[in-house]
Amino acid sequence: MRDKCGREISYLRISVTKRCNLNCSYCGSKKVSAETELTIPEITAITKALAEKGITKVRLTGGEPLVREDLCDVAREIKKIPGIKELYVTTNGILLKEKAKALKEAGVDGVNISLDTLDKNIYKSLTGTDKLSEVLDGIDEALNTGFASVKINSVLVKGKNENEAEKLIGLAKDKPLDVRFIELMPFSGQGEKEKLVVTENELLEKFPFLVPCNSEEASAAKYFTAKDFCGRVGFISPRSHKFCNKCNRIRLLSDGKLKPCLGNDTVFDIRPFIGNIELLSEKIEEIIYNKPVSHHFEDGDNFRGLNLIGG
Ligand code: SAM
Repeated sequence: MRDKCGREISYLRISVTKRCNLNCSYCGSKKVSAETELTIPEITAITKALAEKGITKVRLTGGEPLVREDLCDVAREIKKIPGIKELYVTTNGILLKEKAKALKEAGVDGVNISLDTLDKNIYKSLTGTDKLSEVLDGIDEALNTGFASVKINSVLVKGKNENEAEKLIGLAKDKPLDVRFIELMPFSGQGEKEKLVVTENELLEKFPFLVPCNSEEASAAKYFTAKDFCGRVGFISPRSHKFCNKCNRIRLLSDGKLKPCLGNDTVFDIRPFIGNIELLSEKIEEIIYNKPVSHHFEDGDNFRGLNLIGG
């Protein structure tokens, strides 16, 4: 369905857990429990009600979705819902080597893997762990598994990993995957100062060999490529190039709250309505229709960690 601005809302991001096996400095604390997590029947009921309003694409995220033992069952149930055509997972990649095949068999069409550096010391300082080699194995496993899409998402932070951009771009040269740079957003005490953000324009100036792709794809990312590259380089730039007028997303948080905009604090608890399909449908319609016009990242650091919201 369309919201009051005429935007067709077709993309649902489901946070299946707040738990995470990393502790990234710019994201949020990992000290959370599984207590309030939606069950599979609850996730399925809400997704079904949303599919009836026009959701066709779903992404499972978190926290770290792969720490949820029943993730493949979640995926399988979602893929059975009439109207759901595409299903993706966003992961830090640590458990991907062991779970990629099962995810594909459960109906997952593609994976986005978050990786901000190829240097093991920087990886440790950003994430609090030394699991870089597991992530790299996970990427290769994802490519071998035959997903329709494999993408790397990288957040660059000035003074920390900004010099990793070139090596990360190298992944798109050597492997059939896309590497996308996401501008740092003001979550969890980080990114509030503009000076920490590495912008799309700064990267394009640094890598002038990147040429725009003529892509018709409905995506928040703008894609570029270069001579002899297997994959593409993308930019998701909510700070320097706001794309709210094209936003087609809504988020379901792991505790049953619907969040119509990442950059606004408003959430609506729809868990109490799961037993009443008519009321659930009515509430969802109201929430989608009233989706905020745009994010407010420019207002500073008032947002909860992305691990709690679902990235
Ligand atoms: N654990 C999964 C993962 O690592 O992909 C899914 C959740 S994580 C919150 C999703 C994405 O959000 C990651 O790519 C992470 O880099 C990104 N992210 C976290 N905090 C961010 C921030 N302050 N600004 C921009 N992106 C952020």
